Amino acid sequence: MTDRLITSLTNDTVKNVRALNMRKERESTGQFLAEGLKFIGEALDQGRAPRLLLVGMEARDHPLLDRAKAATRAAGGEVIVVTHPILEKISRRDNPQTVLGVFEQVYTPLSAIQPGAAPCWVALEQVRDPGNLGTIIRTADAAGCGGVILIDDCVDPFSTEAVRATMGSVFAVAIARTTRAEFLAWRQSWPGSVIGTRLDATHGYRDAALQHPALILMGNEQAGLTDELAAACDVNVKIPMRGRADSLNLAIATGIMVYAATDAA
Ligand code: SAM
Repeated sequence: MTDRLITSLTNDTVKNVRALNMRKERESTGQFLAEGLKFIGEALDQGRAPRLLLVGMEARDHPLLDRAKAATRAAGGEVIVVTHPILEKISRRDNPQTVLGVFEQVYTPLSAIQPGAAPCWVALEQVRDPGNLGTIIRTADAAGCGGVILIDDCVDPFSTEAVRATMGSVFAVAIARTTRAEFLAWRQSWPGSVIGTRLDATHGYRDAALQHPALILMGNEQAGLTDELAAACDVNVKIPMRGRADSLNLAIATGIMVYAATDAA
């Protein structure tokens, strides 16, 4: 089969794909961009085929690329061959990946989360930094968590920067988004421990008796976890700060918490 070839930077499909770098466009289309064969392989392993697969003219033959092309076509998507300048323009990089995929965003409704499916889940209040969010999604996946719940106004997990930082884990864990009020109501029926993280907590992060599944709440990068959410936790804990730094980076603190919770499972 001969795939469509696009060479013009002003082609409408190229413009539409480029526009996915903007949140407004991602929200209205429900789509996002993932760059590189590794990401596309992760997606295929999770049964997710791209709507569009853009393949650079210079892309080398690879069995995974053949699989990606076949899966895209089988799912009703399109494979398009594009020039290097088009890949540069879309990815906004001088050395773009030679394969880009456009995928549907998938959010798991809170009501569809099955707490017992994993020993640990993460909830983030108003996370602002896409790199932090992507790193947390990747770390949650690595530690064996079931998913990440975004409370209130959080950064977009499907932004290009966040997706890059997930290294493909964006396809592997459940991602939910909710308001604070909805979260507080839903939390009432959580079957295990709900653990908040606060710098003013008196319990150490290893001291709290933990019942799985654990739900770990992490706060905003500047303001920390709000009093309202901290009050809804069974216990609030602190990771010791032994030097001059007064707090840890949010993603690092999440990594420490989720490994402590899953190691204890
Ligand atoms: N000034 C903020 C505060 O007072 O909480 C600092 C926020 S910190 C950069 C971002 C988040 O990382 C916190 O809300 C908490 O969830 C987590 N965190 C960072 N350091 C922590 C620590 N030592 N113990 C527990 N949680 C921590």
